[in-house]
Amino acid sequence: MVELVNRLRWSTTRARMLHGCARHYYLRYYLAWNGWESEASSATRLAYALSKMTDLPSLVGEVVHDLIASHLRTLEAPVEITLDPQEALRRMRGVWADARQHWAMGAESRVASPKRHRPVAEIFYGEENRDPDRLRVLANRAPECIEAFLRSGLLSRLREAPREDLLWLDPAGGSFDERTVLEIDGIPVHCVPDLVWRTDGDVEVVDWKTGVPTVSDGDQIAAYGLWAVGKLGADPERLRGRLVYLAEGTREEPVPVDREALETAAATIRSDLQEMADLLARPEENLPLPMDRFRRRDEPAVCGRCHYRVFCWPDGVPAPPR
Ligand code: SF4
Repeated sequence: MVELVNRLRWSTTRARMLHGCARHYYLRYYLAWNGWESEASSATRLAYALSKMTDLPSLVGEVVHDLIASHLRTLEAPVEITLDPQEALRRMRGVWADARQHWAMGAESRVASPKRHRPVAEIFYGEENRDPDRLRVLANRAPECIEAFLRSGLLSRLREAPREDLLWLDPAGGSFDERTVLEIDGIPVHCVPDLVWRTDGDVEVVDWKTGVPTVSDGDQIAAYGLWAVGKLGADPERLRGRLVYLAEGTREEPVPVDREALETAAATIRSDLQEMADLLARPEENLPLPMDRFRRRDEPAVCGRCHYRVFCWPDGVPAPPR
């Protein structure tokens, strides 16, 4: 059997986690490693289970992205297959029911086989009934996002595009894929754009968003631009980006991806990697410094949404100050 190695890698998620809370980063990328082994410590097994945890806003994003990716793949078929927005709700209900069932089976089941039976934060932390209206609004966002995608001008343009111009479609499913890895200074940089296609002589990198816009959305597109140049051979002079905010109707936002944006993205990735390396005791083995060197964020408003809060706040996160 191939032995899995915990290599240092860059990804948008990993870098955001490090900047959000270094302790979270440690628990997710170091303590959780090997947590799938039966002889792993209970802390490692729990950290691993939490690394597979989802929550309702993330589940909306995952289901919407998977359905869109599968649907775009059908554009290559002779007849386009219908995409039912309600399928998003059916899939989410399946994950939710499974998490509820495993929660009810007791403490051991809550962390057993988390890849197949993913824990859901709202259930794991007993918050399912705290604000049912909010959960309902969030859940309904999934079919609304699919409806917005089906109405979008981008989908109409993609339907008209020659199939060979669809250069990359998200393989979906979240599993690791070597094609998504670009090396920078010998370190793997993991990028999974939703779509890259050729349009009007340019190469456009597209990302769907199911949440609200954030200041780093454009940076993510620029990192994907680097990947498109390195892995797809895109011409850096003919590169552009597009963000599609599906929770806001069909709002599309063009993102310029010029040489300066690419250089900034590469510099940011190098600086993130240096920050990650500075937290290693043995960089050649990717062995981290002791846990207490990874600073805790300790802000109730942030910790109250963190999947790892059971580690830092075993008695519950205090209420944020009013
Ligand atoms: S609970 Fe707070 S301090 Fe602990 S890992 Fe999460 S964000 Fe960081």
